[in-house]
Amino acid sequence: MKKNSLQANKHVFGPVASRRLGLSLGVDLVKHKTCTFNCIYCECGPTTKHSGKRKEYVSRSKVISELDKILASSPGLDYVTFSGSGEPTLNSALGKVIGFIKDKYPAYKVAVLTNSSLLGSSSVRRDLSRADVVEASLDAVSAAAFEKINRPCINIKPEEFIKGIEETARRIKGQLWIEIFIVPGINDTGEELKLIKQALERIKPAEIHINTLDRPGTESDVMPADTAALEKVRRFFLPLESRIIAHPYPGSRKGAFSAGKLEDMVLALLSRRPSTLEDLKTAFAVREEELKSHLLQLRNSGRISVIKKQRGDFYKIS
Ligand code: SF4
Repeated sequence: MKKNSLQANKHVFGPVASRRLGLSLGVDLVKHKTCTFNCIYCECGPTTKHSGKRKEYVSRSKVISELDKILASSPGLDYVTFSGSGEPTLNSALGKVIGFIKDKYPAYKVAVLTNSSLLGSSSVRRDLSRADVVEASLDAVSAAAFEKINRPCINIKPEEFIKGIEETARRIKGQLWIEIFIVPGINDTGEELKLIKQALERIKPAEIHINTLDRPGTESDVMPADTAALEKVRRFFLPLESRIIAHPYPGSRKGAFSAGKLEDMVLALLSRRPSTLEDLKTAFAVREEELKSHLLQLRNSGRISVIKKQRGDFYKIS
């Protein structure tokens, strides 16, 4: 394997241009698509493995070996981010993998994106304790909106995981951020926003991010909220400060991070999130012509397809 190559990696992908975290190396601790929820907006597609049970869904040693090879070459990154094909806190080795990065490569910041469902568990909170950022989702507080948006596969009530988020915010050394994904007609009503705001006042997150659909979601009838609607939500939360992040990150490449085989890296990213040509250009910092020729070959071989959405043509795994 070439130096810096991601060619043979199964669990580490990117780096990708993240709207919240800059240049982010992804770590996927579950197999597609393992989750406690089946959100209507999920960009990974429908949940096929519903579970609330923690275990090593993918092997800790394999993940650590992939990370070790990549981080040893000191790539320029803003974050190493646990996200991907499902809920990362489901993997019981999460704390060990974070610990490996923090002990061997302390210069790298670690972020974990979680749907919050397992934050009520003290072992999950312990696993997250060394993360620099935990971004916890909070899309709904009322049972009705929660059921409609997140469609939980486990028996959990919003009040339970909100307590878990509060506890996590108090216990972790890093920052607790909240992401609220606005689904028009479900969680943008005055009543629901009021409940979310009350929860935010209890949690006191370091940052609040307002998001909406940016790429194809699981249910085709879910529409993005427009800029005016997102701005209305932002104003509703005042005096709590929040940020609308529903726009692509412009991106920058900070260091010499030579891609492995571009085609494999594109496939690894598209298997976790549909992306436009612009997204891929930003993520991999390659010439448009080169990227287009790979995309054409992948389309001709039937491995990827294109879906038209408001933000443009999205490439996705067929
Ligand atoms: S958006 Fe996150 S929490 Fe929701 S189904 Fe997808 S992976 Fe699971």
